[in-house]
Amino acid sequence: MTPRVVVLSAPSGGGKTTISKTLLARRSDVGYSISATTRKPRQGEKHGEAYYFLTREEFLKREVDGEFLETARYAGELYGTLKSEVERVLGLGKHVLLDIEVQGAIQVRRQFPRPRSVSMFILPPSAEVLVQRLRQRHSESGQTLRLRLEKAREELQRAQQNVAGAVLYDYWIVNDDLEKAVREVSDLIDAPVQEGHRADPLIIGEIIRGLAAELSQLKQTH
Ligand code: 5GP
Repeated sequence: MTPRVVVLSAPSGGGKTTISKTLLARRSDVGYSISATTRKPRQGEKHGEAYYFLTREEFLKREVDGEFLETARYAGELYGTLKSEVERVLGLGKHVLLDIEVQGAIQVRRQFPRPRSVSMFILPPSAEVLVQRLRQRHSESGQTLRLRLEKAREELQRAQQNVAGAVLYDYWIVNDDLEKAVREVSDLIDAPVQEGHRADPLIIGEIIRGLAAELSQLKQTH
């Protein structure tokens, strides 16, 4: 088996963290690339486990030093995949799982075109479910919630683009059932990547419209 770069994206609140944790617990041939970020740790998040939590200065220095495979600005914070993390996991002969957003996925796909990489975008079952999940995260203030919803809408739009003549995301996965979603991601890591046209599911348009409605409501109440 040639180890692959597995790009997993989803709007935050899409359930991606739970999916990747479950997958990693089940498969010893998949390792996780721990990202660096300037955002503050949420409750329970440990340095070197969830992320490498860096100051802005540290992050920027590492960027100048060429330590990142990709970087992105997300909701006002910086995030990046360290080359050393990807090399570490691939060096163990394992697939490397990257939990990253769309701008980062574009950069990774340019450097690891398929079949070296496989990319999946996880969709919430509906806009309402996404809002609910974000609200349950008590660390999200009203302002942050709005930022993240705006970001989610933008990401869903951008996820449908092509990079270097190929789709940015090879697969869409609707997360309406954790077990099913984990199984799908796991199977697709091993599947040969299909070439050719793939229709974007209608649910993407529905979620984008739902998020727009939520956002206009939030603007009225704040
Ligand atoms: P959160 O702050 O909710 O943990 O993550 C916010 C977003 O940043 C998520 O979409 C997550 O996938 C993305 N993200 C996390 N690490 C990285 C990274 O290293 N690079 C990029 N481009 N995005 C990341």
